Amino acid sequence: MDLHGAANDMEWLQGVHVIETYATTTLLIDDRLVLIDTSADADAGKVMDYLSNIRVKPKDLSTIFITHTHPDHVGGLAAIKHGSPAKVAAHRIEADFIARKRVYDGPSGPQSHPGTVVDVLLDDGQKHDGLEVIFTPGHTRGSISLFDASHSLLIAGDAARNESGVGPMDDRYNVDPKQHRESIKKLAKFHFENAIFGHGAPIKGGAGAKIADLAKRV
Ligand SMILES: [Zn+2]
Repeated sequence: MDLHGAANDMEWLQGVHVIETYATTTLLIDDRLVLIDTSADADAGKVMDYLSNIRVKPKDLSTIFITHTHPDHVGGLAAIKHGSPAKVAAHRIEADFIARKRVYDGPSGPQSHPGTVVDVLLDDGQKHDGLEVIFTPGHTRGSISLFDASHSLLIAGDAARNESGVGPMDDRYNVDPKQHRESIKKLAKFHFENAIFGHGAPIKGGAGAKIADLAKRV
């Protein structure tokens, strides 16, 4: 893979690309080539364009993690996965919703994305492709966050957001608001400097302290 001369204007940390879709898509490029979440676009247009611009082909991806089954995170999965041997990884509770084998029973209602089989069923504490799974249910039943020690980075998914400050998600979109807050307290036990959220700006430096402050307030 030749990345020389590639555009790096959205390379947020070295090897960590943040693609500004409606819900953030993250790309890790080091000894892995990993995508986390896939935007709301059914054709994954912006994600595909970004990959193309930096000369990454979907077939080169090793893993596509899905933090949870909401349409703005899973919408582009089928298009990106199409023809790619990349493994799709999600929490085992979320897998049947992503595959559309079960009707999702939480907000925001029944789903419409094309179902995609989840290849790797994740559990709390498991490591896959260098990322540690943190089970953070409450937003959806099987939500996860991912911890990347090599970048001191938390990829929160929708376990928290950073819109007008770090806070919980709007409870209209949480299947279990109390459990969502327990998950925020769980995130506060991890040590990290940087964080990427599904919604809101990523935080470079001091992110762990902000999550710890939030955990005291929720
Ligand atoms: Zn969500």
